[in-house]
Amino acid sequence: MSNNIAIAIDGPAGAGKSTIARLVAERKGYIYVDTGAMYRAMALYFIEQGIGADEQERIASVVPDVEVTITYEDGEQIVWLGGRNVNGLIRTEEVGKMASASSGSIAVRRKLVELQQALARKESVVMDGRDIGTCVLPDADVKVYLTADSRVRARRRYEELKKKGQDCDLDVIEKDIIDRDYQDMHREISPLRQAEDAVLLDSSHMTIEEVAQAIIGLCDEARRE
Ligand code: C5P
Repeated sequence: MSNNIAIAIDGPAGAGKSTIARLVAERKGYIYVDTGAMYRAMALYFIEQGIGADEQERIASVVPDVEVTITYEDGEQIVWLGGRNVNGLIRTEEVGKMASASSGSIAVRRKLVELQQALARKESVVMDGRDIGTCVLPDADVKVYLTADSRVRARRRYEELKKKGQDCDLDVIEKDIIDRDYQDMHREISPLRQAEDAVLLDSSHMTIEEVAQAIIGLCDEARRE
């Protein structure tokens, strides 16, 4: 039996999962596994191959050729597509939308879930995504469903983009977030939902530090049990 600890954080787009998961991982000395980045790397491959979001058969047929791997440098996750570090290419809206569309494919999910489970067997992890508590790590020591009001999530993304000097519209961002949530919650395989044994955290009126403390509190509680 392994003594590795697993913390699963699921929730809709823009709820702050990656910021929180990274912080908790740093404080606990665990590895942060960003599973969304893996779906994004696959999506980038499909886009580069000229495959459309609705071409589910083509997506399934090329999945065996896609080589997604993960390494860590100073605690930072690096996603490799073939031999290429794609961290700088996967954070666009286009890739996010393609990731959401292609993540409904069984072939895509099977491949990435295996990779995620292998990482959790090797190390203690804080893993964030959409199906971590429900499918990837059903026996996780702590499960959190992190959400926030869609307007709050849109505003956070808006501020982030503005800081980067990008032109953006709050209403458009909110609509994209709502559409992506709908797609993620209504797909047939592993839809986004709160696991029965997950703790619900609504970060609409919480600071990053308050959310991180709440999760660390849950880890301490789990350890005592
Ligand atoms: O979290 P992020 O926005 O990077 O995820 C991109 C997309 O990847 C999500 O909208 C979702 O469709 C998909 N995803 C998933 N399962 C995960 C993580 C992400 O289906 N565990």
